[in-house]
Amino acid sequence: MKAVNVRTVQNWIDGAWVASASTETERVPNPATDETLVHVPLSTKEELDEAVRSAKRAYATWKTIPVPERTRYMFSYLHLLKENREELAQLITKENGKTIKDARGEVQRGIECVELATATPTLMMGDALPGIAGGIDGAIWRYPLGVVAGITPFNFPMMVPLWMFPLAIAAGNTFVLKTSERTPLLAERLVELMHETGLPKGVLNMVHGGKDVVNGILEHDDIEAVSFVGSEPVARHVYKVGTAHGKRVQALAGAKNHAVVLGDCELEKTVQGVIGAAFGSSGERCMACSVVAVEESFADEFIAALMKEAEKLTVGNGINDEHFVGPLIRQSHKERVLSYVEQGVKEGATLLLDGRKSGEAAGDGYYLGATVFDNVTPDMTIWQEELFAPVLSIVRVKDLDEGITLTNRSRFANGAVIYTSSGQSVQYFRNNIDAGMIGVNVNVPAPMAFFSFAGNKASFFGDLGTNGRDGIQFYTRKKVVTERWFN
Ligand code: NAD
Repeated sequence: MKAVNVRTVQNWIDGAWVASASTETERVPNPATDETLVHVPLSTKEELDEAVRSAKRAYATWKTIPVPERTRYMFSYLHLLKENREELAQLITKENGKTIKDARGEVQRGIECVELATATPTLMMGDALPGIAGGIDGAIWRYPLGVVAGITPFNFPMMVPLWMFPLAIAAGNTFVLKTSERTPLLAERLVELMHETGLPKGVLNMVHGGKDVVNGILEHDDIEAVSFVGSEPVARHVYKVGTAHGKRVQALAGAKNHAVVLGDCELEKTVQGVIGAAFGSSGERCMACSVVAVEESFADEFIAALMKEAEKLTVGNGINDEHFVGPLIRQSHKERVLSYVEQGVKEGATLLLDGRKSGEAAGDGYYLGATVFDNVTPDMTIWQEELFAPVLSIVRVKDLDEGITLTNRSRFANGAVIYTSSGQSVQYFRNNIDAGMIGVNVNVPAPMAFFSFAGNKASFFGDLGTNGRDGIQFYTRKKVVTERWFN
C-alpha cells in the first residue's frame, strides 16, 4: 500500500523532472528503520521512448562539441560532488543501509570515477603511424557511439552509475540511466548535480523502473550500447538479449570471492582484512570476501583470532558511527539469507557465530549480525551461491595448491585474495588463480578508477570492463584511416 504524503520520485527527461504516468509504484524504505522514504514509479515504455528520443536529438549536437569542452562539465561536476560529499554519504546510508563510514568510502570511489572522466581528451586519443607505405599514412580515430544506456544495482548507488555516465558523456555519447528501483534518491541527486554544471538537455536522462524498462532498453533500436551491473541471472539475460539486438554490452555480474590464508601471513592484519571484507557493507559488495580457504595447520589459530574480533562487531543503524554491520537492503533479502543460514546448518557446516539473534535485537530494520561458518565444503549451498550478506564460510585446505583448486571450482571469478608473506606463493597464486581482480594482502582488491574493473567466468559477460582504458574503448568506436594525398 502507498504511504500517505510520501512523494513519488520523477524521471529526468529532456532537461526536466517529469512525473511518470505509470500507476505502478514500489515503496522505498529506509532499511535501517522500515520507514517509507519515497515511492518509485515503474515507468512505461512511452517514457523510455521519450528519454531515448531526447538523447538521440541531443547526440546530434553533443558529438560535435570539442572534447575538452565536454570534459569541462566533468571538472565542474567533480567540484559539486566534493562540495556535497557528506550529504551524498548520508543519503547512501539512508536508502541503502550501509554504514556512514562505508558510504563515505563509496562517495570517494565515485568521485575518482569522475576524476577519470576529466582525462577523456588523453584517454580518447587514437594512434597514428606515418609512412605505412610510399606516401601513405595510417591512423586510428575514436568516435562516440550514440545513445548509451546504463542499468545499475542497489549496492553501490553512487559509484556504479559514476562508472558509466561521466566517461560515456565526456566521450561524446548521450545517456539514459535506469538505476536500481531500490535506491532512487542518490540517483536523483547525482542527476541534479550533473545538471547544475549546465549540461545541455538530453545529454543525460534518467528513467526509473524495473525489468520492463530494462527489457525496453535491450530491444530499443536507437540504443547503441548497454552497461549493466547486477546479479548473475539478470546479467546473463541482459547480455543475451542486448547482443541479440545488435548492441555492444558489458554485463558485470555476481560473485563469490575467496581469500586464501596461508600460515605465514601476518595474523592480526589478515584478521582485520577478512573482517572488513566479509562484514563491511553487510557483505553486500560484489567484492566481499565470502569464503576463507585457510591452511589446515594454521586454521585453529586463525579462527580463534578471527572469532575474537567478529564477536565484537555490533549491528545496527549505520548512520550511527558505532555500528560495523548495517541492515540488509530488504526484508525479503534477509529472509532469503536466513534460509541459506538454515541450509548451511542442515548440510553440516559448523555455525561458529550466529548473527540471527544480534540481528533480531538490533531494531525494526532488516538486520543480520556477522555470521561465521566453519568446516564448509564445496558441495554445500552456502559455498556455491552468492549470499550477499555478512556470512563468512571457512574451508580448511591442505596447502596453497588446494586453496587455488578450490577457489577455481567456483562458477564465479570476480576477485580473489591471498594473505601471505611469501613472494613465491604470491607469484604462484597470481599465475594459477582464476579471478578478474586479485589482492595480495589487500582486503577488497577493487581497482582504482584508472584501472579497468571486471571479473571472469559467471562474474562478467562481455569483453571490455568498466573504467580505465576498457571504459573509454567501450564507449567509443574506432575508425582506421589509410590516407594518401596527391600533389
Ligand atoms: P539485480 O540484478 O537485482 O538488479 C540490477 C538491475 O537489474 C536493477 O536496475 C534492476 O532493476 C534490474 N533487474 C532486476 N531484475 C531484473 C529482471 N528480471 N529483468 C531485467 N532487469 C532486472 O541486482 P541487485 O540486487 O540490485 O545488485 C546486487 C547484485 O549486483 C549482486 O549480485 C552483486 O554481486 C552484483 N554486483 C556486481 C558488481 C560487479 O562489478 N561485478 C558490482 C556491483 C554489484
